[in-house]
Amino acid sequence: MLTFNVAQLLKEPTGAFREYEICESVEGLDESFSPAGPLKGKVILLHAGRHNILVTGIFQIPLNLYCSRCLEPVVETIEFQFKEEFKATVDIETGSHLSWDPAEVEESNLIDSSHILDLTEVIRQYIILNIPMKPLCKPDCAGLCPHCGHNLNLGPCGCQEEEIDPRWAALKALKATLEK
Ligand SMILES: [Zn+2]
Ligand SMILES: [Zn+2]
Repeated sequence: MLTFNVAQLLKEPTGAFREYEICESVEGLDESFSPAGPLKGKVILLHAGRHNILVTGIFQIPLNLYCSRCLEPVVETIEFQFKEEFKATVDIETGSHLSWDPAEVEESNLIDSSHILDLTEVIRQYIILNIPMKPLCKPDCAGLCPHCGHNLNLGPCGCQEEEIDPRWAALKALKATLEK
């Protein structure tokens, strides 16, 4: 679960904390990425002052991607960490409603009126921020031939012959004659 009931934590003194191990499917969370396995990591929820919970998280998740050179499917595990402050919207002692300036506190960082802190939106945003721009199937991926589209990791395609600069073609012809 990426939701945490923090009612008890908010009643405890500043500095109290909880630690959680996370292993959670985030399949279907967003169209812009495709998980190849569960989100795994660790979060610490720290009572950081009356209405504040400071969340420190470290996560990793494997994503289904395509190699940016040869276009073959590739799974790359991304890692990210964050520190985010969440704010209560109900005072735990009095039950009175608390409002925060939207310019200072993101909607995603508000603890709901049932004292549920939900990390889903924050995690969705961090995954998107960390999607690799140019994933590679291997560091030395040879890519595709720009002429015939052949995957050069599987061997040469035979286009190289024709790529010779026309200015050298005459010389090449001469060389071929001399070699006969
Ligand atoms: Zn590749
Ligand atoms: Zn080719």
